[in-house]
Amino acid sequence: MRTQYCGALDTSYIDQTVTLYGWIHRRRDHGGVIFLDLRDREGIVQVVFDPDTEEHFQRADRVRGEYVIRVVGRVRARTEGTINPEMVTGEIEVLGKELEVLNQAETPPFQLDEHTEVGEEVRLRYRYVDLRRPEMISKLRLRSRITSEIRHFLDENGFLDIETPILTRETPEGARDYLVPSRTHGGKFFALPQSPQLFKQLLMVSGMDRYYQIARCFRDEDLRADRQPEFTQIDIEASFLSNDQIMSITENMIRQLFQNVLDVELPPLPRMTYHEAMSRYGSDRPDLRIPLELVDIDDLMRQVEFKVFNGPANDPKGRVVALKVSGGAKLSRKEIDDYTKYISIYGARGLAWIKVNDIAAGAEGLQSPILKFMNEQVIEQLMQRLNAEDGDIIFFGADKEKIVNEAIGALRVKVGEDLNLFTCQWAPLWVVDFPMFEDDGKGNWTPLHHPFTSPSCSAEELRDNPGEALSIAYDMVLNGTELGGGSIRIHDQALQNTVFRILGIDEDRAREKFGFLLDALKFGCPPHGGLAFGLDRLVMLMTGADSIREVIAFPKTQSAHCVMTDAPGIVTQQHLRELNINLRKQPGEA
Ligand code: ASP
Repeated sequence: MRTQYCGALDTSYIDQTVTLYGWIHRRRDHGGVIFLDLRDREGIVQVVFDPDTEEHFQRADRVRGEYVIRVVGRVRARTEGTINPEMVTGEIEVLGKELEVLNQAETPPFQLDEHTEVGEEVRLRYRYVDLRRPEMISKLRLRSRITSEIRHFLDENGFLDIETPILTRETPEGARDYLVPSRTHGGKFFALPQSPQLFKQLLMVSGMDRYYQIARCFRDEDLRADRQPEFTQIDIEASFLSNDQIMSITENMIRQLFQNVLDVELPPLPRMTYHEAMSRYGSDRPDLRIPLELVDIDDLMRQVEFKVFNGPANDPKGRVVALKVSGGAKLSRKEIDDYTKYISIYGARGLAWIKVNDIAAGAEGLQSPILKFMNEQVIEQLMQRLNAEDGDIIFFGADKEKIVNEAIGALRVKVGEDLNLFTCQWAPLWVVDFPMFEDDGKGNWTPLHHPFTSPSCSAEELRDNPGEALSIAYDMVLNGTELGGGSIRIHDQALQNTVFRILGIDEDRAREKFGFLLDALKFGCPPHGGLAFGLDRLVMLMTGADSIREVIAFPKTQSAHCVMTDAPGIVTQQHLRELNINLRKQPGEA
């Protein structure tokens, strides 16, 4: 058996005989002496074989990179000149006495040093090799530490860890379901859960009172940006607690987590309404590390003779904003063009700007292609409202409100990152008072969260004015990323039915899809609420990784494909027959 991990050895083991197991990281032959860097999950140690160990020396001579070996040897101090301060084990080495090759290895597909430049596709194809890299091990180790801290906190606070089904019915979280055909009920399908939402609510009806689960969730989305078809949530639900109490418990959980794992003291989380977040930052997950804000200027732009501005300024669904960037006047034409291109992804048709060179000189001191459309008075009011100073650049967004928010909201973050305007390392907050519904653009209401979220108004008010109603929902946001979100739920059957009707789900359909929930609400459902945190994103932020794929052991690519196992795969005709499935197209057919 192993006596120590390679990476755990230090001077306190000098003169001890140790048994190590690991992989050959590097092998060097220094004039008759062989040096092996032996690696395991805890680190690397240098093992030296002298020719006087004959048979073992011969073996040491024949091992190659990534061979798996067992070594017995004596720990000794390195001589003065050979100490390696770069290595944790750099003050010692192991004088090898025995070496047994447990398995050979072909040359690995890429080098295992920290700065491997190999493409992600290759790394994912040989993920088991990729995960041998110390930086990957340390991310997975931190992930394990995080889940264990979270479990500890929730256990201490009386939450029960309860599993819920993976084969289930659809859960409306706004994405497409992954379906699993049933063999025993031909023509019918299970859905994989988009979240354990309904089951955790049912657990509250059962009186479990406080529940949690580190739960796998599945969403068949067109993979925009950094999403995975399966991901992990820290899923929480509790009865008889107000939204403030749920927010307070989970805020403590996250603050304690940062304290214990990263030694970071997060500030107490400020609360901001959805309305304020959208108006000042164009986003419901504002990155508050960046001190730039969207400033409304509709009133000033109504009269200007510039259609691009006065159109949206006079349109109730339009918005005109300015974004002042201190020191931004130094941006080059090319950089501004790049930003224009960047915001076009969000549907913006252009990016107007004014550079403030000399504010004291009035319009003369400004530089911009749009100045000719504005009279002196408008310019003066604009500069006053923005507190413009020499060296600023002012960007403008004018369009439908949604486009302006998304485009200028994204520009705000991009410019903040590019010019390194961050004022702090961690900026968490709660966003609250979300609207209950949003207009899907075709005259229908869709829930902003999910249909089980409680409104903060009465059923009558909700029915009379769905567009104005707010929900008792809350999102925790960190550095511009939504860490988690949840709400107080509806525990009253009549109110739940009202929400279904507003969403266009008639009685029959509600019974068909959610009959079990509506029944449960009749049998003594306590007031309850909860939330879920995205574990992958939390780990990504805490490890400083660039993508969630870096903190998931076996992630899928952007096209929801596992390049290592080649999943999803083709199945046999017989299997399809058993499932009562006839393919309309063969795989690969156009
Ligand atoms: N089920 C919700 C989600 O997955 C979280 C919650 O409301 O608890 O976003």
